[in-house]
Amino acid sequence: MEISFAGKRAVVTGAGKGIGRATALALARCGARVTAVTRTQADLDSLVQECTSIIPVCVDLADWAATEAALRDVGSIDLLVNNAACAKLQPFLEVTSDQFDQSFNLNVKAVLHVSQIVAGGMKARGSGGSIVNVSSQASQCALRDHAVYCSTKGALDMLTKVMALELGPHQIRVNSVNPTVVMTEMGRLGWSDPEKARSMTSRIPLGRFAEVEDVVNSILFLLSDKSNMTNGVTLPVDGGFLAC
Ligand code: NDP
Repeated sequence: MEISFAGKRAVVTGAGKGIGRATALALARCGARVTAVTRTQADLDSLVQECTSIIPVCVDLADWAATEAALRDVGSIDLLVNNAACAKLQPFLEVTSDQFDQSFNLNVKAVLHVSQIVAGGMKARGSGGSIVNVSSQASQCALRDHAVYCSTKGALDMLTKVMALELGPHQIRVNSVNPTVVMTEMGRLGWSDPEKARSMTSRIPLGRFAEVEDVVNSILFLLSDKSNMTNGVTLPVDGGFLAC
């Protein structure tokens, strides 16, 4: 299946590393003009070195006012990938107020805010668009030490559905991908211990974690016109974990 984003403009958040970086590069390879948003300038520098057409934006997305200022002039956007998130793992009884606020600020509130900015433009132009939120299998299945992370992703799934409901009449589709573990920097943080990793892969019918490319391909599909009638779904990219 050939997917082309020629003539389209895209924003990818958390594009400095991991899934977001690979998504930004894949979109650019498919012809999109990509704005890459992340908070570490060195990552943006190396990204632009790798793909000179990418437009870098350096901002801490957990900061509402800074995000507003950074994205005010982002221009006409057709495709948005809300990928940036953090995972702060701790036992439920040890969760602190700060950890809770930081996680919800980035994983939920920033998604709402960036989407408001981008979808507001899509609506005003009447051009439609496609938004993909990067959620997780953790939105639908309890994981030890993931009380806050699971809660943010559960909230994100519901945000995805309400956005699909309200933005659908403007021909803006909103879906999420819900991956299992991917061995990025974030994945390594929680799943490097071989014993713990085995306890997860043994519950995945395909018997392995997801690769970055598995997630990127699902994101591209949901962004593209190949999924024109798909709106409000949470698409597992989990080898069957959530089905069992
Ligand atoms: P990484 O930690 O590898 O990359 C996250 C990216 O987001 C980095 O570039 C990071 O920048 C950026 N970022 C973090 N905080 C902010 C912020 N406040 N403002 C702007 N940018 C920020 O994560 P992954 O690629 O693994 O994860 C991507 C998405 O996939 C997330 O939504 C995650 O929840 C989801 N996911 C990941 C899974 C996994 O196992 N890896 C499994 C299921 C879902 P910096 O490095 O500078 O902080």
